[in-house]
Amino acid sequence: MELEEMYRSLGISPEVLKFGTEIEETLKERFLAIDANAEYNQMKVLKAMQDARVSDIHFAATTGYGYNDLGRDTLEEVYAKAFHAESALVRPQLISGTHALHIALSGNLRPGDELLSPVGKPYDTLEEVIGIRDSVGSLKEYGVQYRQVDLLADGSFDYENIAKAINEKTRLVTIQRSKGYDTRPTLSVQRIGELIAFVKKIKPEVICMVDNCYGEFVERIEPTDVGADMIVGSLIKNPGGGLAPIGGYIVGRQDCIDRASYRLSAPGLGKEVGASLGLNQSFYQGLFLSPTVVAGALKGAIFAANVYEKLGFGVVPNSTESRHDIIQAVTFGTPEGVIAFCEGIQAAAPVDSFVTPEPWDMPGYDAPVIMAAGAFVQGSSIELSADGPIKPPYAVYFQGGLTWYHAKLGILKSLQKLVDAGLAKL
Ligand SMILES: *Cc1c(COP(=O)(O)O)cnc(C)c1O
Repeated sequence: MELEEMYRSLGISPEVLKFGTEIEETLKERFLAIDANAEYNQMKVLKAMQDARVSDIHFAATTGYGYNDLGRDTLEEVYAKAFHAESALVRPQLISGTHALHIALSGNLRPGDELLSPVGKPYDTLEEVIGIRDSVGSLKEYGVQYRQVDLLADGSFDYENIAKAINEKTRLVTIQRSKGYDTRPTLSVQRIGELIAFVKKIKPEVICMVDNCYGEFVERIEPTDVGADMIVGSLIKNPGGGLAPIGGYIVGRQDCIDRASYRLSAPGLGKEVGASLGLNQSFYQGLFLSPTVVAGALKGAIFAANVYEKLGFGVVPNSTESRHDIIQAVTFGTPEGVIAFCEGIQAAAPVDSFVTPEPWDMPGYDAPVIMAAGAFVQGSSIELSADGPIKPPYAVYFQGGLTWYHAKLGILKSLQKLVDAGLAKL
């Protein structure tokens, strides 16, 4: 069977395929640059694994308290080495990115402290963690105050007001690398470094934490290379490489990681406990695959930007911008557009391709959210996935794809749905 027929058997019309193929032709050079970064990051991860002397004994399962869990401790050494940091907490007991961020924050903040976000509103689920929206158990309930300085209209840092917001109570500065459910630009690692340098000049002892979700391995450097005291992320996003079935990480300065560990387990116990339950191999192997998986996802994001920009939709980042995370936002302006796009992504999946996604009231979000994910791991967004809150400007956030070819099919399928529904014209 020819490739075109194969695509047709998956529901892609020759017109849609031709439109996509022509766009793909124009992206060759960018794809080569992505491959070069993946090569660099692959070596970085390999070096960390070799230096930590990873061996198959580290894949053995532990149970119970998990004392002397050599596989877990060595995995944490690998993460610390790969991210050029002193220490790491990489655990299945960190349930998600939100949980890891909550542990990093609550472990390092004390009553009376102030938390500052100098990059605007944080990711939706953190609103309840911090207490921006009142919530039982929030940092606010524990006497931690929150300040925020928004980015300027052109996306740059509001240095004047950031300087004013830093005071004797400021204990921790949280910087979100990725745009999340926002249409601001994602921050490059270099810009994060500039912001950290500015903050530390005013108050050297402040802890700078970076929410690194979706950013890992997109560039050759990470926020820990430019002064971040802690970086935090989810293993069912980039660094799990699609294989980790659960988990989160916190990597950084020894004292920050120790405090987080006392919050995760208990004061006095810290990193010494927490059985890895046979998940270690997937954590190691997922990290090993992550650079190439991230490269595939990035190609998909750039392909989507080019397809939808050409059709007249708003895309962030745009078709030519440099990339600092794997997320692509496309603004459709109507609920129907968001829903059709998500239906297409779902229909392209290896798992549950036959179901139709619908908007629902997800915990932690303030509007109904539609999610498309035919994933091997529930909610995994390093796998091909799309979600969008059903509220203006009706933007969809697309990310992932364990392989570039799957990401490509997903975009073509979404386009097919939009074309069939009369919502886009080739
Ligand atoms: C995904 C994400 C989170 C939260 O992670 P979950 O694993 O979904 O809880 C936090 N911040 C950013 C920027 C994210 O993209």
